[in-house]
Amino acid sequence: MKKIIILKYGELTLKKSNKNTFLKALKKNIDNSLENIEHEIIYDFGRMFILAKEELINKIIIKLKNIFGIYEIIIGYLDENKDIEQIKINILNLLKDKEFNTFKVLTKRSDKTYPILSMDINKIIATNILKEMNQVKVDIHHPELEVNIEIRKNEVLYYGDRIKGLGGYPVGTLGKGLLMLSGGIDSPVAGFMSIKRGIKIEAIYFESPPHTSEQAKNKVIKLAQKLAKYNGNVKLYVVNFTEIQETLLKNVDHDYLITLMRRMMYRISAIIASRHNDLVLINGESVGQVASQTLSSMRAINEVVKMPVIRPLACFDKLEIINIARNIDTYETSILPYEDCCTIFVPKHPIINPNRSKCTSLEEKIPWQDLIYQAVKNVKVINITEENNNDYLDIL
Ligand code: ATP
Ligand code: MG
Repeated sequence: MKKIIILKYGELTLKKSNKNTFLKALKKNIDNSLENIEHEIIYDFGRMFILAKEELINKIIIKLKNIFGIYEIIIGYLDENKDIEQIKINILNLLKDKEFNTFKVLTKRSDKTYPILSMDINKIIATNILKEMNQVKVDIHHPELEVNIEIRKNEVLYYGDRIKGLGGYPVGTLGKGLLMLSGGIDSPVAGFMSIKRGIKIEAIYFESPPHTSEQAKNKVIKLAQKLAKYNGNVKLYVVNFTEIQETLLKNVDHDYLITLMRRMMYRISAIIASRHNDLVLINGESVGQVASQTLSSMRAINEVVKMPVIRPLACFDKLEIINIARNIDTYETSILPYEDCCTIFVPKHPIINPNRSKCTSLEEKIPWQDLIYQAVKNVKVINITEENNNDYLDIL
């Protein structure tokens, strides 16, 4: 018997008209992820088969667990011998090391010329299992193990165990978005959730050297690497924010500092996003979490950009966010102590209900357009891969 992998798509199958685009994208994402592992992919609208040498199957499954658009990963076995006696032997072989109390046999015949009907195959095989294996029972409604047999044109396909995939849409099928990535807990989670919905992310990080350290930047790079596992390579735009922050600190009311800093971040992010065909901004804001995330703060900050802003965590509690961060393995990196450019400039009493026209009049005191122009001009780009070989690109 030949061991193979079968993938089920889940939600993907609801997208009738776009199905083919989605499946092509999924195949491409899988091919990219398996680029160093020899394999072959065959698919139709119902499922995808991955063929590879038996010793590579486990390695492939580990990769598949990080790919969005896959609902279930199933290990299957193919045998060209379609004789019912051989089917009996094969099934017993496949079951001999499994622990289960109840089972059911489910047969499909895509080869309608096969001489035995599906219902009869179910009976023959179930009877044989009951005869050969002690203490197992049939349970039609809630079996611990489903023994699937498919009689195909040239072979029989067997499968049982299912591994849960990540679900979601294949990365990139919904276009690109720019994630505002700080070193905190929230923004990597927001990134993960956007990738899950089919958005290919790029990331932007605002640093303020010497107020923020190299370690703080490395932490963001590490987080981007963790996201690259799901996204494929992440392009990280690093913006030097020092002059903007220092100018604001010297010239504006301190209770408005965070609001105005964030307006600048939004403006710069929107410019970089437009230049690189990112259709939306994404960030880790969560309603009520801090002063800049009250509804009126969000409105005062958001109004400086036209581009849609996606906030996957808007209505999540911090504990829910932390749970996801742990699951995607970003939490331990996020809680490393290095300071962020917002935290070092945090005023004692940040305003929670900013007046929008006051924002505009405070901004008039500084040459913010020039400062933004400079910041955008000097942006650095780092291409982040899942492994450690990051090359510095100079593409702007
Ligand atoms: P996080 O939200 O990632 O845990 P945080 O809570 O310290 O970090 P906030 O001050 O709540 O960050 O900022 C809200 C959002 O703004 C962040 O989730 C992130 O998307 C964005 N952001 C904040 N600081 C930066 C930064 N230095 N560079 C890029 N984006 C940032
Ligand atoms: Mg936050």
